[in-house]
Amino acid sequence: MKRYDIKSISLEEIQALLTDMKEAPFRGKQIFSWLHGKQCTRFDEMTNLSKALQAKLDEKAVILNAKQVKKLVSQVDGTIKYLFELGNGSIIESVLMRYGYGNTVCISTQAGCRMGCTFCASTLDGVERNLTASEMLSQVYEIQKDIGERISGVVLMGSGEPLDNYENVLNFIRLINHPMGLQIGQRHITLSTCGLVEKMYQLAEENLQITLAVSLHAPNDSIRNQIMPISKKYSMEELLAACRAYIEKTNRRITFEYALIQGVNDTEDCAKELSTKLRHMLCHVNLIPVNSVKERNYIKSSQERVEKFAAILQQHGVETTIRRKLGSDIHAACGQLRRGYAKPKPEIT
Ligand code: SAH
Repeated sequence: MKRYDIKSISLEEIQALLTDMKEAPFRGKQIFSWLHGKQCTRFDEMTNLSKALQAKLDEKAVILNAKQVKKLVSQVDGTIKYLFELGNGSIIESVLMRYGYGNTVCISTQAGCRMGCTFCASTLDGVERNLTASEMLSQVYEIQKDIGERISGVVLMGSGEPLDNYENVLNFIRLINHPMGLQIGQRHITLSTCGLVEKMYQLAEENLQITLAVSLHAPNDSIRNQIMPISKKYSMEELLAACRAYIEKTNRRITFEYALIQGVNDTEDCAKELSTKLRHMLCHVNLIPVNSVKERNYIKSSQERVEKFAAILQQHGVETTIRRKLGSDIHAACGQLRRGYAKPKPEIT
C-alpha cells in the first residue's frame, strides 16, 4: 500500500485523511502543527496523540525528510552550504545566506536539472527526479534547526527548474507560508525560472505575492540560443511578453538575472540592446559575474566590465544592481558541491 506523503499535503487533506481513519478531525490541526510548526520528523514524537494513533499514522503515512550529509561554512561571510540525502539516496544541495535583515535559504527543487544551460553545473548529468513539497520544506526546516535561528526568506534558486516541477513547488510555497508553519511571507520568497513561458502565465493566475526572477543572461535570441537551450523553444519576444503579462496581472516587479561571461554577453552593445528591451518595464536587473565551473570553459567578466555594463543599463533608466557574491570559498555556484560529492561506500564488516 502506498503511504501518504503527509508533509506535502494541506491541512484540509490531513483532516480528510483522519476522517477516513475514523479519527476526530481536530487531530488534523495537531498533526499539521507538529509537522510544520515544530518541524517534527517522527510520529512517535507527537506526544499529544495516543500511541495507537501514532502507530496507525505510521502505517498510512510517511514523513519524508532530508538528512544532512555534509556542511561547509564559509570563512568569508558565514554562508553555509549543505548537502542532504533524500529517502531514495538522491543528493541535493541547499545554501544558507546571512543578510543584515535575516536568514535566507536557497533550496533545490529537483535533483539535477534538464534545462541544459551551458554555464550551469546542475544540469551536467540531466535531471534525476522532481522533489516533493516535503523534501523542499525539509531543506528549510533542517537548516533552521541546525543554526537555531529563524529563517525568514527562501529563494528557489538551487538545482532544478521550479516551473518544471510546478504542482510540488506551489504546494511548497503554500505550506512554507502557512500561519501554522514557518509563515515565511510571500514577499520573502523568490522563484527563479529560465523562462518556461506557459507556466509563467499559469503562475500569474495563482494570486501570489512572491517575487519572480527570470534568468535572461542575454540581450537577444542569437546569444541566448548559444547558452540556454530553452531559448530555442521560447523566443525572447515571447518571454518578455510573458513577463509583461505577469507584471500586469500581479503588479509585482520582476528581477532579471544576468550572469556576465567574458566575450559572450558582456559587451557595451549587449548592455545597450538589453536596456532598449527593458527600459519601460517594472523590473530590476541583477548582474553577477559568471561562476566558473570546472567542466565549462567560461571566464567571468572583469569587475571593470561588470561595472561598465551596470552603468549603461542605469544610464538608460534600467534599475540595476551587482549581486554581492557569497560563499566564494565553498563552491557556491549552482550544483558544484553536489557534483563533487562522492558517496561514501558502505563498509563491509
Ligand atoms: N532553473 C532556475 C533556477 C535555478 S538556477 C533558473 O534558471 O533560473 C539559479 C540562478 O543561477 C539562475 O539565474 C542561473 O542561470 C544562475 N546560474 C547557474 N549557473 C551559474 C553560474 N555558473 N554562474 C552564475 N550564475 C549561474
